[in-house]
Amino acid sequence: MNAQKCLDILRGIKDVAFATVNDEGKPEVRIIDVMIVEKEKLYFCTGRGKDFYRQLLEHPDIAVTGLNKEFQMVRLSGKAEKLADQKKWIDRIFEENPVMNGVYPGESRYILEPFCIESGELEFFDLGKSPIYRESFVFGEEKPAKQKGFLITDACIGCGKCMRGCPQQCITQGTPFQINQENCLHCGLCFENCPVQAIVRRGL
Ligand code: SF4
Ligand code: SF4
Repeated sequence: MNAQKCLDILRGIKDVAFATVNDEGKPEVRIIDVMIVEKEKLYFCTGRGKDFYRQLLEHPDIAVTGLNKEFQMVRLSGKAEKLADQKKWIDRIFEENPVMNGVYPGESRYILEPFCIESGELEFFDLGKSPIYRESFVFGEEKPAKQKGFLITDACIGCGKCMRGCPQQCITQGTPFQINQENCLHCGLCFENCPVQAIVRRGL
């Protein structure tokens, strides 16, 4: 798995959830087509009359997520930028997605504006596997992603309570015990149950 493959999954699902923040600072989410994915960039478009369009211009921070039939989820957070060469990109989007001609026939297509997400964080989460599998990536000029989940510190006394209770059996014995991060649900059960508070949140 890598960043490009994560973006390809979103393009494969095509209709995915895009979340923005409205004027009141409240979240809004809607289904938007992923129109093009290439060279670790994701392209989409929207009409100039839509609230989504206004929100993108005012608050370009965006979150995108989708789940495919294999129960593989991809989550993206990044910044959406409006593209300068509107007609070129809208024509290209219609070329790659001919079904759009039925929705915006003829010249009406130019009420749409093209956007690109060219940097951000990506998370791949495979619920179709046992144990589950997760991996995170950055793309474009994004700085390394903040670590999530939990970590077992040297305060561990080796009692094994966390290992016995872990729903994914992703804790292994050692000094200290260790969490296999790629299989962890981030559920927090081990964190809540450790008798000596040896488990801490990562990335704080
Ligand atoms: S529950 Fe806490 S002390 Fe016990 S093995 Fe796990 S991390 Fe170590
Ligand atoms: S957070 Fe949940 S899944 Fe991850 S190691 Fe702890 S108990 Fe297991």
